[in-house]
Amino acid sequence: MSSISPAYSGSLFIVAAPSGAGKSTLVNALLALEPGIKLSISTTTRPPRPGEVDGREYFFTTAKDFVARAERGEFLEWAEVHGNYYGTSRLTVEQEMKNGTDILLEIDWQGARQVKKQFPSAAGIFILPPSIAALEERLYKRGTDEPHIITRRLLAAGGEMAHAPEFEYAIINEEFNVALAELQAIVKATRCRFAQQAARNAVLFAQLGIHAQHQS
Ligand code: GDP
Ligand code: ADP
Ligand code: 5GP
Repeated sequence: MSSISPAYSGSLFIVAAPSGAGKSTLVNALLALEPGIKLSISTTTRPPRPGEVDGREYFFTTAKDFVARAERGEFLEWAEVHGNYYGTSRLTVEQEMKNGTDILLEIDWQGARQVKKQFPSAAGIFILPPSIAALEERLYKRGTDEPHIITRRLLAAGGEMAHAPEFEYAIINEEFNVALAELQAIVKATRCRFAQQAARNAVLFAQLGIHAQHQS
């Protein structure tokens, strides 16, 4: 049983994918289409890529600072991915969701597991490439990483995709616009879940006499 008015009226989305599957491109296009959803900006120890701005793609920091913050419990989740640390700010996510904003996390499967334990109703979405060859081609065409970094990411892809079954939704990013429409449909459907509607529209639900607890 879940209460009719959960503490958080915002929905939580987790998007994961092997590097190069098109996760960031899809998420940025989704944010342009859907108001009311915000991307959580992670903190990372990875060096900025050319064109990346501190506070826009990531908050960039040192390993020493990251570890200190992790020890203070500042991260909702954190993980080591491709040799760097990445973490999600607990305070930002919880405050935004209390205010009714939907939050999207672009995180790896290890982080997704940690978030699911704390927010079981979070919607987990895994983005798949149409083939390994396409993944490799996209990473080279993106042109943001050195060849040895690309090789490392390609080698990690199989291990990441082995965790795809832990997610509720799978999107194959072959035709970009098809994948984007699917991602948008998942967001819209999740927002219509009974508990989320009840939390967002508490006054209306009370006026309509809907007080009973809802079986989720
Ligand atoms: P990308 O794979 O090309 O998007 O490269 P990035 O360097 O931006 O991300 C590397 C990996 O770290 C991806 O698997 C991300 O999903 C993951 N990642 C990014 N931010 C976070 C975070 O805050 N927490 C966790 N757990 N993983 C993250
Ligand atoms: P990720 O965030 O998963 O590492 P990106 O969003 O950076 O991946 O996408 C990797 C590259 O693939 C980018 O250059 C992007 O423009 C391109 N891309 C994304 N989706 C498609 C698609 N459906 N078809 C072809 N190229 C794509
Ligand atoms: P990139 O370095 O290419 O930006 O990201 C590499 C990977 O790190 C991606 O798969 C991305 O999802 C993951 N990642 C980014 N931010 C976080 C985060 O805050 N937490 C976790 N667990 N993974 C993250």
